[in-house]
Amino acid sequence: MNKKGLLIVISGPSGAGKGTVYNEVLIRRPEIKRSVSVTTRAPRKGEVDGIHYYFRTVEEYQRMIANGEFLETASVYSNYYGTPKAPVYEKLALGQDVMFEIDTLGAKQIKTIYPESVTIFIIPPSFEILEKRLRARGTDSEDSIRRRLSCARSELAKYKQFDYIVFNDDLESSIQRVLSIIDAEKSRIFRNEKAIKDYLNS
Ligand code: 5GP
Repeated sequence: MNKKGLLIVISGPSGAGKGTVYNEVLIRRPEIKRSVSVTTRAPRKGEVDGIHYYFRTVEEYQRMIANGEFLETASVYSNYYGTPKAPVYEKLALGQDVMFEIDTLGAKQIKTIYPESVTIFIIPPSFEILEKRLRARGTDSEDSIRRRLSCARSELAKYKQFDYIVFNDDLESSIQRVLSIIDAEKSRIFRNEKAIKDYLNS
């Protein structure tokens, strides 16, 4: 059975906890491949080139854009981020599922280019809780918290472009909901036409 892999996109505003949900889903489903993005931002402590990101200069990044190497690309917090095209298509063709954690602009581009993708919007349960989470991190100034909150409002207004929404009120339950979405999507008839035909012809 030669079935195409599933392309899963996880997105959401900063402070929604999407990164944690993404990493946990990958731990529980090791067969799902992680997409390694390219970025022009500097590596943070502990980040390894080729594992967390491919860290590139702006010049190198622009060359990659010119060569048509990206599936999608966006500018987030004044740095470029993009998904390299070739490794994703190679994995999908091999029947492997691939999952991305990208911003809402990137998610929109993916849905346009690849409508069979599954896009999941992870959001904080309320603005009040988002504000509490941002304050609890203790890393942002009052100004930055205000900016992130207003940014989250405009991000949340984009919910209609997604296939699914997960209110991240409780981490474990959010992980379970994402896993259920993936399982249900893999069972869609249109993704299983060939397997069904082979079955009926056997
Ligand atoms: P960070 O710098 O904290 O790792 O990521 C910042 C933001 O960039 C996050 O919202 C993350 O989802 C987004 N991001 C990471 N990789 C990509 C990518 O390849 N494409 C797009 N469009 N956004 C990305």
